[in-house]
Amino acid sequence: MTKHDMNFALAIAFAVVVIGLGAGFLVGTLTRPAAPLAELPAGPVSFSPDAVQSDAERAVGTIPGYSDVYVNDYADVLDDTAEGAVRDDLILLYDQTGIEMTVLTIPDLATYGHRGTLETFATALFNTWGIGNADSNDGVLVLVSVGDRRIRIEIGAGYSRAWDERMQRVVDEGFLPDFRDEAYQAGILTGVDETIFELTGNYPDEFEATTLERGFGRIWHWIQALGQFAWGLIAAPVGAVVFAVRRHLRNRPRPCDVCGTTMLRAGEQADDAHLDGGQRLEEYLRSVDYDVWHCPSCAHMLIQRYRSWFSGYSACPQCSYRTLSTTAEVLQAATKSSTGRKRLDYDCQNCGYHDSEVRTIPKVKSSGGSGSSRSSFGGGSSSGGGASGSW
Ligand SMILES: [Zn+2]
Ligand SMILES: [Zn+2]
Repeated sequence: MTKHDMNFALAIAFAVVVIGLGAGFLVGTLTRPAAPLAELPAGPVSFSPDAVQSDAERAVGTIPGYSDVYVNDYADVLDDTAEGAVRDDLILLYDQTGIEMTVLTIPDLATYGHRGTLETFATALFNTWGIGNADSNDGVLVLVSVGDRRIRIEIGAGYSRAWDERMQRVVDEGFLPDFRDEAYQAGILTGVDETIFELTGNYPDEFEATTLERGFGRIWHWIQALGQFAWGLIAAPVGAVVFAVRRHLRNRPRPCDVCGTTMLRAGEQADDAHLDGGQRLEEYLRSVDYDVWHCPSCAHMLIQRYRSWFSGYSACPQCSYRTLSTTAEVLQAATKSSTGRKRLDYDCQNCGYHDSEVRTIPKVKSSGGSGSSRSSFGGGSSSGGGASGSW
C-alpha cells in the first residue's frame, strides 16, 4: 500500500465518520420535540377543590372506580395485547418522569347517570381518583366515551394554559383520525404515544436518549424495517446453499486411504454394528452423528464424526463422550437489589459421572421497574385544563 493509497483510505474513513455523525445528529435534531417538560411550573399550584367538587356534584351521577392505575378499558375496545402495550408505555412514562398518566374508556356517560358534559365528568373523575403527583399536579387522564363519540385529555392543575393547545393537537392528530373509522384500539395506541411525545419530547421507546442517540435510533428503526425484508431475501438462499454444500461434502464418494478404491457408506443400522456403546448413545441422544464408510476391496473402515451444535449435551470430563447433560435449579431468584443463586447438576448418561456447582445469578436490570407495582394515584388534581374532541 503506497502513501497515496493510505491517505485516500484515511480520507474515505474520515468522510464516512463525518457523514455518519452528521446524519445521526441531523435526524436527532429534526425529531427533537419543541416542548420539553421543563416548562412546567415548579411547586404547588393554587387550586380550589371545593369549587370543582360542587360543580361535579351538580352534574355527575357516579364516578366509576379503577382497578388499575394505567388502563381501565370499561368500554372493552382494547384486546389484551394492545392493553398490555399501553400499560407498558405508561409504566415507562412513570418510571422515567414520575408522570401519572391513565387511560379510561367508558361505554357512555349515561352509564354513570351523568347529565352534564364530558368535561365536567372528566374533571370530577380526575379529582376523585387523584391522578398525578399531589405537589406538582402533573397527572394526565385520557378519557374516551365511545357511545358519546367524545374524547377528553384532562391535565393536572400544574400544567399552564399553553398545554391545552398541545393536547388539542394530540386529540386532533393522534386520536381522532382512527376514531373516525371507529378503529378505537388503533386510535388509542397512536394517541397515547403522541400524548407521551407531547409531554416528554420522546416516544416511549426513546426515553433517556440523547439527540444523537435518538437520531441513530430513528435511522436504526428504518434500517431494521428494510433489513427484515432484505434478510428474508438473502438469508433463505444463503442458508440453503450452506446446507447443500455441507451435505454434499458429507455424502461425496471418497477413495480408500489404503487401496484407493471408492468407499461405500453403510446405512444407519449397519453403522451401529461398528460403533461402541458411548458412540451409539451419542447417536441416540443426537449429540453426535456417525457415518461409517467401508472399502469393498480391502475392508478398510473409516468412521466420520459429525457433532451437533444444538443437542444440549456436552463432552463428559470422565469418558469424553458428548453425553453430559446439565440441569439448572434456581435456589434463590435474583431481584433488582440482590443477586440470586442456582445449582447446576452435570450428569453423564454414559459413565454415570456426576458433578454439581452453585453459581451466582446476576441482579435483575431495573428497566420496566418500579411503576409496575404502583396501585394507587398520587392525589393530584385538575382545574379543568386539557382538550376535547368529537368524531
Ligand atoms: Zn481399500
Ligand atoms: Zn461420561
